Formats: sequence, C-alpha cells, structure tokens
Amino acid sequence: MRLRITGVVQGVGFRPFVYRAAEENGILGWVLNGEDGVHVVAEGSEIALARFVDTLRDRPPPAALVAGFEVMPAEVAGFAAFEIRESTGDGAPTVRISPDLAICDDCLRELFDPADRRFGYPYINCTNCGPRYSIVVGLPYDRPLTTMAEWPMCAPCEREYHDPSNRRFHAQPIACHACGPNYVLREGEHSLRGTEAIAAVAARLRAGAILAIKGIGGYHLACDARNPSAVATLRERKYRKERPFAVMVPDLARARALVELSPEAQTLLASIARPITLAPARLLLEGVAPDNRELGVMLPYAPLHHLLFAHGAPDVLVLTSANRSSEPIAYEDEDAFESLSGIADAFLVGERRIARRLDDSVARATAHAPAILRRARGLAPQAIATLPSTRPILALGADLKNAIALVVDGQAFVSQHVGDLDHFPARCAFEETVRDMCAMYEVRSEDLLVVHDAHPQYVSTVYAESLPGEHLAVQHHRAHVASVLAERAEWDRDVVGVAFDGTGFGDDGTIWGGEFFVGSLRRGFVRAAHLRTAPLPGGDAAARFPVQASAGFLWALDDLPDLEAPPFLFPQRYASAREMVRKGLRTFTTSSAGRLFDTVAALLGFTRESTFEGQAAMWLEHLAAASGPVAAYPFDLLERQLDYRPLLAAIVADRVRGRDVRAIARGFHESLADAIVAACEVLASGNPIVVSGGVFQNRLLLELLRERAGERLWANERVPANDGGISLGQAAIAALAHA
Ligand code: ZN
Ligand code: ZN
Ligand code: FE
Repeated sequence: MRLRITGVVQGVGFRPFVYRAAEENGILGWVLNGEDGVHVVAEGSEIALARFVDTLRDRPPPAALVAGFEVMPAEVAGFAAFEIRESTGDGAPTVRISPDLAICDDCLRELFDPADRRFGYPYINCTNCGPRYSIVVGLPYDRPLTTMAEWPMCAPCEREYHDPSNRRFHAQPIACHACGPNYVLREGEHSLRGTEAIAAVAARLRAGAILAIKGIGGYHLACDARNPSAVATLRERKYRKERPFAVMVPDLARARALVELSPEAQTLLASIARPITLAPARLLLEGVAPDNRELGVMLPYAPLHHLLFAHGAPDVLVLTSANRSSEPIAYEDEDAFESLSGIADAFLVGERRIARRLDDSVARATAHAPAILRRARGLAPQAIATLPSTRPILALGADLKNAIALVVDGQAFVSQHVGDLDHFPARCAFEETVRDMCAMYEVRSEDLLVVHDAHPQYVSTVYAESLPGEHLAVQHHRAHVASVLAERAEWDRDVVGVAFDGTGFGDDGTIWGGEFFVGSLRRGFVRAAHLRTAPLPGGDAAARFPVQASAGFLWALDDLPDLEAPPFLFPQRYASAREMVRKGLRTFTTSSAGRLFDTVAALLGFTRESTFEGQAAMWLEHLAAASGPVAAYPFDLLERQLDYRPLLAAIVADRVRGRDVRAIARGFHESLADAIVAACEVLASGNPIVVSGGVFQNRLLLELLRERAGERLWANERVPANDGGISLGQAAIAALAHA
C-alpha cells in the first residue's frame, strides 16, 4: 500500500518512527519527506500491514500533529528492505514545519551525564526536541536547508544521524562538542568559549550584571530578578519604565513559589512550547511587574538555560526580549552588538545562526481554555485554521502587535508576532516576514488576494498598495470578531459580535472601539450598536494620558466636581484637554472602550502617563481583582448606544463619597459584563456572543462574562484577542467573500 501523511510531520522524528514501525512489523518499502507530506510505500502480509498502519495512526511521535492520513492500494514491487529515501523537492510545499521544541527528557539526562559525549553541550537535541522553525531556511526540512548546514558533522554524529535505531536518526540540528557550534562570552576584549563561558555568565548574573544571551529565536537581556538595582538598571538602559518583565525559573517548584499555578496553568507552563505563562503573583519582585496582579513565568527550554542554572545563575532570572523599547527582538549577532551596546554588560553569543526572529510566546491559562496573548516561539508557524478557500490569501493584520497570515490550500498559517509598525525596524521585520512566508510556501505574489485593514494610513495598508494582485480592505473590528469564528470554523452561524479595543478605523471614518455586530461570516456583519461616542482631544496623546481621554468622556456630564481637587487631583493636562474639546480643536469622535477604561482609571487615581499600551486598563483590573463582587452601576443600551454617562456619574459620586477604589473598579467591571450580555440579548437573543479585541485580554472581565453567558460566550483561543489576531480574521472574511 501507499500512504500519505500530512500535518506537522517533518522535523519531529516521523521518518525514523515509520522506519522502526516497519522493522517491528516486517514491512518492506520506503518512506520519504515530500513537500506535500510524508510518503510511505509498504509491502507485507495483510496482517502486518494492518498493524503497521495502526502504529502509524495511533502512536505518532510526541511533537507530530497529524492532519491527514491517506491509505491507497499500490502495485507490488518486491522490495528487499525498508529504507528512508532522499527528500523530493517537487510540487507545492504544503507540509508544515514544526515549531521549535523544548529540550526533551532524554536529552536533558544526557546533558547532565558526565559519561555522555554531549555532557554540558548547549546545543544538544534529537528528533524529539530542539530548534525547527528558527533554523529553517527552506522546505523540505533537511540539514542543507537549515542554519546547521555550515557545521559539517563529525564521524560519531554522522553515524547516529544515519542509524535508524538511534534517537538522532535524521535529527537535522544534530551536533556535538567536537563538530558543532558552541557559546562564546564576549566581554570587551575578552572571550571565553563553551562551559567556561557559561560558568562565567552565571557568575556575572549573580554579581548583578546585565547579559545579552542568545536563545532560540533571538537575544534575551537577562539579570537577577531578586536584585532590585539590577532590574532598575535594566529598565533605565532599555528605556522601559513600567512594562512588566517575564522571568525564568529552573523548575516547577520554583515557579510555584512565585505564582499561583492552577493545574491548567501548570500544564501550559510545562508544555512543549514553553510559553511565558501569566499567573497571579505570590511574591513581589521589586520592579519586575509593577502594579500587576500577574507575573509572567517560563521554564527553561533551551539546553543552555538548564546549563546556566546548573552553573549557579540566580534562580529567578529576568529574561526579556533584547531590543530597545518596542523594537523587534535582535536575532543577528552584529545587529545585537550594535543595538545592545550600552544596555548589556556582556554578550553570550551562540554560534548557531538564527534564521528568523521569534519572541517568546505569552499565554494565560483559564479554566475554559488557554488565552494566547502573543504567538511566537513554540507556536508559530502552526496552521491555525482551515478556511474554505483554494486561493492563496495574504492578510497583513494591523499596525499594532502585527502578525500576518498566509492561506495556502485553505490552511491559514499565522506568522509569529512582528510588533508595532510605527517603528522603522519593525517595518523592516514586517516586510521580511511577508517575503519569508511567501517564499516558504512558494506563493507567487501575482496570485495572491491581499487583505489589509481599512485604515488608509496604516503602514500595512500603504504596503499592501505596493503589492500586485487583487486587494480587499477589511474593517478592523469585523476582523476581530471573524478571528474567533475562523478558529471555530463557524462560517454560517448567526452571532452577535462584540469588538472592544483601543482604536480601529470605522466605516464612517471615526475611531471605533466599542462595537456590536450582528450577522455571520458568510453574510457579513452589520454594526448594530456601539458605545456612545465621545470627543477625543489630541488623538494619539489621548491614548497615552488617561486624564486627556477622560476630558472627552466626562464632557457630556453635568455637575462635575472640581477634578483638580482631592480626591481626583487631575493634573493641568486635564483642563487643557477640556479646553480643546470645548473649542473642538484637534478633537476626534470615538466609541473606544479602551478610552472608557482609561477614563475610569483616571477617576480612580491613574492620573500619570501610561508608558505602554493598555497600562491603565491593567492597573484598573489589578485594582478590581482585589475586591469581592459588588453591585453593578447603571450602564444601559439607549437607542443602540451603550450610554456611559450614568455609569461615570455614579463612579464620580462614589469617589467623592470616599468609597474604596477597589470596589469601584470592581463595580465598573461588573457593569461592563452586565451591559455586554444585556445588549447582546436585545440585539440577537440566544445567539452566541463572540468577544474579541484587546479589552478582552482582561481576565476578570472574561470571568465575569463567562459567569453570565456560560457556553454562549465565544472568545479567542488560538490567536490573541488583541490585534495579533486581526490577520486571521481578515483572511477568514476574504476567504468567505471569495468562496
Ligand atoms: Zn531530545
Ligand atoms: Zn559531532
Ligand atoms: Fe484592535
């Protein structure tokens, strides 16, 4: 018989697994990696063939993700053995490359076994673990098309590579002390290589230094998380004022000491993707995650990380993407030396080249399903969804938290997190990612349907215009709602979609961000209601200064007390912004729920500048989470607009009365949850409630909604609810429009 197996089947030890299954069952024939999957031709008795197929189907290697399994009859050719044949390079590559995999237990054991020839080798790997996407230059996945091509194997490695009974049989990144890359510490004039370098780095970290350390998808900046002065220095040098840092700890026990880990969170944390996992903090690490109820924790995933801890690195390490504020993560050595000089005291340089940058993924476990906040290392480039389209589609996403999507043969591949395109280096990374994905899947740009946001001034929109082929603009908030439906393959289901975020370009040219839609992916979404609009003075600055946004949202309220007096103590900026609203100067109209969060945060005390996107909202959630349930404020749908005026008036009155700000913050969250569910009931009674947009990264709000709507609530599970999920939604809308 002949078999074709598709999905994530390359670079995960699939061929050796097929080989061993053939040996066990006395099967003759061959297996090879084609661009359209793993092909097998098998000869044997009927019983042996049945057992062989059962094994392939039921016991694939741990990192494989089988999507298609075809069995066809074939002519008997009279094979004399079972062999692994050379990969073929014909046809369109629809096979999926595996994401990067955390080190496996077998390799970990060898790493610390003094008798093993890879004892202490920082690039140890096997067919069950190690780098994949981060070293791939082209498909099919074979050593010559990886960054390991430049490291010829020594004789012992070569033997393992060609021995079908070995765990490293056809492990493309195979290497050892003798033949492979290693780590080099560069510190001024000095350099050390191998174990000495790693031991020296551990010592520097203990002494409070800031190190740039090359990982799987790029450089990290590392320092001792328990050393407040090292953390403060890192913040100062990186121009990162308050945005939380993630930490790495050596093991689960240490993670448990730092954060509260539910069983789901523990599974997520230890999963083969090893994401940064957000969980409620138990311990305050000064300066690491200020004003945040959660801490991002990860476990070691590269052998190097284990070696660093074993050599005595501090057991809680800040490990943050190495870049200047909001630039893409540095992944090329020369670029890292240049952009990180003045930030890092020394560099631990890995000699294995990284083919493409991949930040750490960020996720949070909920009782329901994991929520992904950033998709990158360990998750990209998995196919996320199957769309009803035979045409290749390139969806360019949004300008913030950009990620692109490419649809080939109906499979939607979402790229790793690219970043915020208002910075030049991120624009370059964006264009690089488009070229990279199109090249990887051999898509010709002339055949593409190019989808972009409806915002005429987005960098991604302007870029789309430079591309050939047919184009389609998709409104931002419809794309948010569509991303959830694409994950669930719900093309026809009538839903009510709730898209709440900071900003998006609306149909009418105003700034949307508190939208209700009714309809389905196939029929389209009609805007059925929205947050009552407010004048927003000063555009972009209004997103940075909550008091400035509040001047717009409080404009329509009568009888406001003096907000510059206690307990509000609004700075002068508020009065100037109010003056702008009064005169209609540089004032925009918005229905942004993000700015409503900012307004409430300002009323409760967040009157300073917000130093990263969403900070005031996170601060407000943190406050609310410290309170038990309270009654909701009035917040109702009035002529298809959610009227925030009674809500804000009640909050102002409570604050004047001296009510605990935690209870007020909680009341605001309860009001929002009540209002969303009630509005959905009015707009489309009984239909699923689809929520997406950056506001729904709010864990408390999602919990409150879940309490009220149960299974009727559909939220993102595979792509971020923030703008990182936009490209999938764009692709889905385009696929349906052209189905
Ligand atoms: Zn391994
Ligand atoms: Zn070797
Ligand atoms: Fe958005």
